[in-house]
Amino acid sequence: MRIAVVGTGYVGLVVGACLAETGNDVVCADVDAGKIARLNAGEIPIYEPGLEPLVERNLRDGRISFTTDVGPAVASAEIIFIAVGTPPGEDGSADLKHVLAVADTIGSNMPDDGPEKIVITKSTVPVGTAAKVRAAVARHTGRTVHVCSNPEFLKEGAAVLDFMKPDRVVVGVDSEYAREKLGELYAPFVRTGNPILFMDIASAEITKYAANAMLATRISFMNMIAGLCEAVGADVTHVRQGIGTDERIGPGFLFAGIGYGGSCFPKDVKALIHTLRDTGVDASILDGVEQVNDAQKSVLVQRVTERFGADLTGRTFGVWGLSFKPETDDMREAPSLTVVRGLVERGARVRAHDPEAGHEAERYFEDLITSGGLTLCEHNYDCLEGADALLVLTEWAPYRNPDFARVRAQLGEPVIFDGRNLWDPERMREAGFHYVSIGRQARA
Ligand code: NAD
Repeated sequence: MRIAVVGTGYVGLVVGACLAETGNDVVCADVDAGKIARLNAGEIPIYEPGLEPLVERNLRDGRISFTTDVGPAVASAEIIFIAVGTPPGEDGSADLKHVLAVADTIGSNMPDDGPEKIVITKSTVPVGTAAKVRAAVARHTGRTVHVCSNPEFLKEGAAVLDFMKPDRVVVGVDSEYAREKLGELYAPFVRTGNPILFMDIASAEITKYAANAMLATRISFMNMIAGLCEAVGADVTHVRQGIGTDERIGPGFLFAGIGYGGSCFPKDVKALIHTLRDTGVDASILDGVEQVNDAQKSVLVQRVTERFGADLTGRTFGVWGLSFKPETDDMREAPSLTVVRGLVERGARVRAHDPEAGHEAERYFEDLITSGGLTLCEHNYDCLEGADALLVLTEWAPYRNPDFARVRAQLGEPVIFDGRNLWDPERMREAGFHYVSIGRQARA
């Protein structure tokens, strides 16, 4: 099938590459000329395991191409994916300006004849958006288009695998033609029996927000329980295992930590709250989820000041991990933004390392780097030079089994604040560390 994917970010690039891999003829279009130039040179602008060879192979075999000319790309495609960003507006609602700009481009580049066209919202969009896309296209053309909602559930860090072997594919359609075409398009990805769930468009649009809000709720719920464990001297790891083995609850997404971040959970929870309020439905569960998460991002800074005092002038802290989760360079809404700024604002200097997010950190922390508050280090042990303590903010694999003797020898004081519960508190105590983690020991 001839496919256009508009928006070549984390989602669009993965969708385009995976659809090319199954034999489709894919053109990826983006208004970011720099990004398209890099892609045409065979360079992948993001870190995503498995993506580079996939793009390389399909580029070489001529099944994928990259362009800034969105008009011709959508004019010649029979299936068009809209995969542009839907950032939060000032009131927390999803800003649809990019989505509707693409719909406008699709309408104004509609050929007078040729095969029927399917327009798919792949971006995460609030219920009712498909109708707005349809209306934007219809402003330019009398030709009918089949508008569908096909939300994306891939996880950054495992995006290619998630797209190639999805738990399920959700498709909201209101025409038999679109249902058949999308069934064909996704058939290669559901060969092991994982379902394509066809439903009405509004339900598909809501499904994506409901999934992310449920996952965010589990995280905030466990962080609330972690707070209780600390207050009474219990261990959240035991509680997690105790509830996760209940098959009605299940073990996933029950890890306490320093809060959720990334480009999706924070904005999607906000947008769903907005939709709920707009429709007169009580949003108090999600208000609580947000509130707990905002507070949780500051927990480690609080623990640091409990140990070293409110004024951190003259102190230096090593930080391991800046991305919002491992296996990605994405720092959007990462807890590290709150923690690193929190330490520097209190007078400390920070020496930080991340295996992949260094270039993003240079952008997010430009001011702190210029002022000397933050130094980015090449190696994770370099962060510990002259540091009073180590903070772990992302559970990257290379941090899991460090040389603790080396860590001890390099740190001014053997103090570790672990925001991801990587190590056993008892073992750390025996190894001579003052070890603070989340929800696993009484707060003194
Ligand atoms: P992104 O910011 O990485 O990429 C969006 C791209 O769209 C950018 O390259 C931008 O230049 C381009 N763009 C903006 N306006 C355009 C226009 N008018 N024409 C052409 N290109 C345009 O965003 P992302 O992370 O890929 O997310 C895209 C959507 O998918 C969002 O709605 C997001 O919520 C959703 N989503 C993201 C993830 C994820 O893990 N990142 C997962 C599932 C769903």
